[in-house]
Amino acid sequence: MSRIAYVNGKYQPHRTAAVHIEDRGYQFADGVYEVVPVQNGKLIDEELHLDRLEFSLGELEIAAPMDRRALKLVLREVLRRNGVARGILYMQVTRGVAPRNHAFPVMARPALVITCKRLKPVPAKYLEEGVGVITLPDLRWKRCDIKTIGLLANVLGKQRASEEGAYEAWQIDPEGNVTEGTSTNAWIVTKDRKIVTRPLGHEILPGVTRRALLALLEATDFTLDERSFSLDEALAASEAFLTSSSVFLLPITRIDGKKVGNGKPGDLSKKLRQLYLDHAERQASAA
Ligand code: PLP
Repeated sequence: MSRIAYVNGKYQPHRTAAVHIEDRGYQFADGVYEVVPVQNGKLIDEELHLDRLEFSLGELEIAAPMDRRALKLVLREVLRRNGVARGILYMQVTRGVAPRNHAFPVMARPALVITCKRLKPVPAKYLEEGVGVITLPDLRWKRCDIKTIGLLANVLGKQRASEEGAYEAWQIDPEGNVTEGTSTNAWIVTKDRKIVTRPLGHEILPGVTRRALLALLEATDFTLDERSFSLDEALAASEAFLTSSSVFLLPITRIDGKKVGNGKPGDLSKKLRQLYLDHAERQASAA
């Protein structure tokens, strides 16, 4: 089945799908996006992703390209035309096409692009051995809570991680605290088994996986401590892990080449991954 992209009202072959060179996303990164996991052909935590999309659009004063009901129909049509059972759906809204000028154009209509693709299952090695992260100063702007397509610092960070043989780069704020990864939220488990993740604020993306996991934790007797944590504290933690829509939850076993805990994926990380997988599976198998 060949890939189909939705571009401003038209379903086009993915290979040749294109937007205009004066799309403000291309010139100014003036747009927002969402990545939604797909399992069994169903969108996981769809409403949470659409809530965040509306938040991001609102913060940038970009009009929604269509209402939520219509958008949900288009999302389903993209999934159907691509026949993707397991993977991710990507949607991007920019302020539209207009002659290049920093201030908002008066006439432009928001531009909507939607694609989806299959994803291979997470490599068994990542789960058996955990992944490594490096750390870098957080160079991003002061509104990381908006999911904009302006991802240059994230791109540079991920590239550095990959050059150093790590999976992700944890970004560190001027106080020495971990903000988040370049495309994942950051968590640790302290020696006294408290699960720690940074509270929401302008410094991190409000991850949907993070949010879903926090809700799931409420029904358990695990202790959550929503607060900032330093790199030193992460190095002294018994476990660390990351969350995102594409990988759900991965154990972290090395930070800057140093072992986390005993250097093996921790039991809490495994339990929490399973908790999230069950949550996704419930949605994937619902009628
Ligand atoms: N933090 C950043 C900077 C991200 O780009 C992402 C996902 O792309 C996340 C965290 C995880 O968010 P989510 O769980 O919604 O995928």
